[in-house]
Amino acid sequence: MSDIRLLKITEKRLDILKLMNIESLEDLINHYPYRYDVIEETYPTQEDDKIIIEGTLISPVKIFFRGRMSRMSFSVEDVYQVTIFNRHFLRQYLKQMTIITIIGKCQKDKITASDIKIKPISEIQGVHPVYSLKEGLTQKSFQQYVKKALNLLKGNIESFVPEEYIIKHQLIHKESALWNIHFPQSQEDIKQALKYLKYEEFLKFQLTMQTIKQQRTLEVGIAKRFDVQKFQSFILSLPYQLTQDQQTSVKEIVSDLQSPRMMYRFLQGDVGSGKTVVSSVALYANYLAGYQGALMAPTEILASQHYQTLLSFFKDTDVKIALLTGSLTNKEKERIYEQIQNGDIDMIVGTHALFQKKVEYHRLGFVITDEQHRFGVEQRKALKNKGSQVDFLIMSATPIPRTLAISMYGDMDVSTMKTMPKGRIPVVTKYIKSSSMKPILKDLKEYLASGGQCYVICPLVEDSEVLDAKSASQIAEAMQQYFRGTYQVGLLHGQMKDDEKDRIMQDFQKQKIHILVSTTVVEVGVDVKNANMMVIYNAERFGMSQLHQLRGRVGRGHQQAYCFFMSSSTSKEAIERLKYMEKSHDGFEISMYDLQIRGPGEVLGNRQSGLPTFLVADVFKDFPILNVAREDAMRIVEGYEKRNEYYHLMSTIQEKLKENNEYVD
Ligand code: ADP
Ligand code: MG
Repeated sequence: MSDIRLLKITEKRLDILKLMNIESLEDLINHYPYRYDVIEETYPTQEDDKIIIEGTLISPVKIFFRGRMSRMSFSVEDVYQVTIFNRHFLRQYLKQMTIITIIGKCQKDKITASDIKIKPISEIQGVHPVYSLKEGLTQKSFQQYVKKALNLLKGNIESFVPEEYIIKHQLIHKESALWNIHFPQSQEDIKQALKYLKYEEFLKFQLTMQTIKQQRTLEVGIAKRFDVQKFQSFILSLPYQLTQDQQTSVKEIVSDLQSPRMMYRFLQGDVGSGKTVVSSVALYANYLAGYQGALMAPTEILASQHYQTLLSFFKDTDVKIALLTGSLTNKEKERIYEQIQNGDIDMIVGTHALFQKKVEYHRLGFVITDEQHRFGVEQRKALKNKGSQVDFLIMSATPIPRTLAISMYGDMDVSTMKTMPKGRIPVVTKYIKSSSMKPILKDLKEYLASGGQCYVICPLVEDSEVLDAKSASQIAEAMQQYFRGTYQVGLLHGQMKDDEKDRIMQDFQKQKIHILVSTTVVEVGVDVKNANMMVIYNAERFGMSQLHQLRGRVGRGHQQAYCFFMSSSTSKEAIERLKYMEKSHDGFEISMYDLQIRGPGEVLGNRQSGLPTFLVADVFKDFPILNVAREDAMRIVEGYEKRNEYYHLMSTIQEKLKENNEYVD
C-alpha cells in the first residue's frame, strides 16, 4: 500500500478521503465513478428534447432577479433563445462573440439550459466520470487526486490476471483499465475497463474458492462403511416415501460418507422441500458406520423441534439421541457431556451449545448445520474441530439456481432439491394495502372458528431487537383485548429467555395458543401443521427471500394455507415486490429477484465475508463472466505448482486466506 500523503494535500482533505475509506493511493484509484455524463453535440429528436450545442453569443445578456433567484437570457447565432436560472455569476464571462457550450432542453427555438460552459464543445466533449463523494470535495479536485495517484503509481500497477488469460479474453491491462475507468475518452474505453475489472474480481473470488477446495481435498477423511440393508429398511420405515430430489440428495450425501474424501456439501432446497428427513437419513448412515453425528440449529426452538423429529424417526432403532441447548440446567448438561464423551449418545441435536469447550465427543464423524446462513463461520469451524476428520453438511433454505450455486459456493459440492412432497397446495398469498388488521379480521375469525391457528409476524424495527419486541408486545396486547374470552394469544420475541420461547412454542403446537404474535424468530424451520394462516405487518420491510421463508411456516401439510402481506407503503418498488410474492411460490425464482435488488451479501448471508468483494461486477448480470472465471480458476489452481507464472498469483491468494482465515479449515 502506498502512502496517501504522497498526494501532498491538506490534512482536512485527507480526513475527508478517510471518511470515504480511502487511506492509500491504491484505495484512491479503486474508488470508481458511479456514473458518467456524456457531452457530445446533441440535437433534439421526437422522443427527447435534450440539446447540447456550441454557439456564439450575439445579444447582450439580460438578467432578472427575484430575491436570490435569477433568470438570465440571451441569444446565440440568431437561432436560439437561451434561458438559464440562478447562474448570474456567469455573467462576467458571457461577453458578445464568446463561444460557449449550452447543455439543456429545447423546444422549437427556445432552450432552457441546465448548464453553460465557457468553452467550445471540442474542449469538453467526451465522457465525464461522476464520483460519489463526501461533502467538501469537488468532482474536479477528486479527479486531480486520482490522476496524481495514477501517475505516482505508474509502472507499478500489475495486472492480477495472468498474461495468458489477458490474451485469451482480449483484455486490456490493469493499468490501462484504471486510466480508462477514471479518464475515459469514449464509451468503448469504459467497456474495456469494466471487462478487465469484472473479470479480475471474479477470478480472485474463484481462485480463492478453488484454493480452499483444493486444500480440503488434500485432507484425508474416513471412508465410512455400513450395513446397506439396514440403511435401506430404515428408509422404508419412514412415514412417507422420499421425493425424487430427496432420494438424489441422500445418494450424493451417502456416497460422500463412503468415500475417503471429506464431505463438504451444501444442501439447498426450497422451504418445505423436506431437508430434515434427508439429514436424518444421512445421520443414520453415519451411525451405522459407528460414528457420532451432530445436528446444529440456529435457534433453540428449531433444535428442540429437530430433536422431536429424530426421536420419532428413530423410535424403533437403538439410536440414542440427546438435545443440548443453553437452557438446560448445569446438572443436565454435565450428564449429557459425560454421555457424549463415553459414546453413550449417538446423535446430538442442539444450538451452538454443541461446541462449547466442555463438550468432548467420543467419535464425532459427521456434522450437519441447518439454516446455515444464520451461523457464524467461527461457530461452524469450532464444531468441526471437535473431531479430526469430520464430514460436513450445510443446509440452506435460500436456494439459487444450480449453475449459480456452483459458482457462488465454488468450494463446496452442491445438492439441490426442487421437488416438493406430494399433495402440497400453494399458499394463497395476498398483498393488503393496510397498516392494520381490519381488512382481514373477518377472514381471520372465520379461520379460527374452523379450528385453525394463526401466526402474526410483527414489523422489523431498524435492527433493534428491543424495539421489535416492543412492537410485537403492543400488537399482542391489542389482539388479546380483542379476542378476550374466545381465543388465546401468545407472544414470542428474541428478547425472551430460551426456555420461555420453547414453552410458548410448545403451547402453540399443542393448540393451547391460537394466535402466535411473533417477531421473525419463527423464521427458521418451525413446523406446526395446524397453523395455516399468517399475517405479516409492514411486509415491505422484509427481504423477499425472508418473506418466502416466513410464508413457508404455513402450508406444510395438506390443508389450504393463507398468507397476508400487509403494507401501507406507497413505494412503487415495494408494491411490485409484494405483488410478485402473490404470484410466485418458487424459492429459486424469488431468490433471483431478491439477488437483483439486494445483492448476494444480503440474500445469501455472511458466507462471503472474508472473501474478495465485488466492486464492479454483479453476480447476476455478469454471470457469464463469473462462469468463465470459474473455469479459468480451476485450471490455474490445478497446475500452478508447475507453472512459475502463476506462482505469484497463487501466493497472493494464499496469503489473503491466511490473513482472514475463516475459510481455511
Ligand atoms: P424444510 O426443507 O423447509 O426444512 P422440512 O424438513 O421441515 O422442510 O419438511 C417440511 C414438511 O414436509 C414436514 O412437515 C415433513 O414432515 C414433510 N415432508 C418431508 N418430506 C416429505 C415427503 N417425502 N413426503 C411427504 N411429506 C414430507
Ligand atoms: Mg428446515
